Amino acid sequence: MSTVLFLNGPASGHVYPTLGIVEELIAEGEHVVYVSSEEYREQLERIGATFVAYENFLRREDPFLSNQNYLSLVLTILSSYDILLPCIRDLARQYRFDYVIHDSMYGCGTVAADWLGIPNIATCTSFILAERLLADNSREQTRLQENLLLMKEFSRLSKRIWTAYSIDRKIEINRIFFNEGQLNLVFTSEYFQPQSETLAAHYRFVGPILSERHERSLLPLKQREKRQLIYISMGTMFNNVHAFFRMCLEALASLDILAVLSVGHRIDIKALGSIPDNITVIPFIPQLQILREADLFITHGGMNSVNEALYNGVPLLVIPMAADQPIVADRVAALGAGKQLNKETLTAEELREAVTELLRDESYRINSARIGTTLREAGGQKKAMEHIREFKRAHGIGQHPVDGDEGIG
Ligand code: UDP
Repeated sequence: MSTVLFLNGPASGHVYPTLGIVEELIAEGEHVVYVSSEEYREQLERIGATFVAYENFLRREDPFLSNQNYLSLVLTILSSYDILLPCIRDLARQYRFDYVIHDSMYGCGTVAADWLGIPNIATCTSFILAERLLADNSREQTRLQENLLLMKEFSRLSKRIWTAYSIDRKIEINRIFFNEGQLNLVFTSEYFQPQSETLAAHYRFVGPILSERHERSLLPLKQREKRQLIYISMGTMFNNVHAFFRMCLEALASLDILAVLSVGHRIDIKALGSIPDNITVIPFIPQLQILREADLFITHGGMNSVNEALYNGVPLLVIPMAADQPIVADRVAALGAGKQLNKETLTAEELREAVTELLRDESYRINSARIGTTLREAGGQKKAMEHIREFKRAHGIGQHPVDGDEGIG
């Protein structure tokens, strides 16, 4: 049996895809010490992990605002080192970890692995390189003054953290949001990943891991008859978009369809005004269940949502908000699995036209299902486990007891 330090960000889209892997690890007799924010304790303890919570650093600010600028997001992540590193130092006094599994975006996985002197595996919930491609986005170039200030702040903060925690590795700006592992488990397929041929062999595509979420079943939907079902959600982080939801109600009211709109917990449903008869508005829905029935998904393009829809062959209308979403939207459109619209210029008319076309033209569904097949065939948590076992063998983990390894004192 080995002891795994599992580090993750305080975000459902990053924690949920790892649950299946944690279950497999525990079934093999590994001791998993999982570090994330308090809201995930129950899920992790239920499957047998030792759970350790840190303060949710994303709660300090509105993610929508900090994601508007790549550098301010980088700073948010770098500031989290002050929360995570002391926590890891305490844990290393308590446990002797054999390897680290960490999220590629949030946290300080590579620094932690260096610090503990143990091998690392990264879990990657989005396209590889998506964040770095976004950093090159020309929109960013226009805010030179703001970026200069943020760069200065980055330099000050990284020097302080570097010294305070005696970190050997230089803290590079383009690595803050991409903690590469010696092995990288990527939760999509090689086909869906753009330019996958340029990635080295330590990137392994295992597809999405859609493990059981123990949610209540979906209430029977309003009388469907033969009407097509549209599901709308802007995910869990970028969903404070009252005007957009209002526009959806306006655009879809006159169509002979049924729609379910999941608005999240920050929107006051009453403030949306009158809700058309053919639309149900609720704060949260078991998404994996509704996607098995849906004919179209209107989404912000969060990687999990998109993977979940493609897995079920559902066509997509992507309206990206921020982060990696524009890249995901481009890829969906390029492979013919849906269309994308621009949130800045969007009108109800345009939304209605796009919905009508996506529901009428069969090719979107066929192309979505084609990507879905590659996602299913990528193997999920079983495949991920095969790679982890191979990695452990290659690093001699769990085979020969190592004496005299004191960890961090
Ligand atoms: N989700 C859900 N029900 C909802 C809204 C979202 O179950 O009503 C889940 C969805 O299945 C997905 C996650 O929340 O797994 C959202 O992740 P994604 O990467 O799509 O977006 P984010 O929330 O990170 O922006």
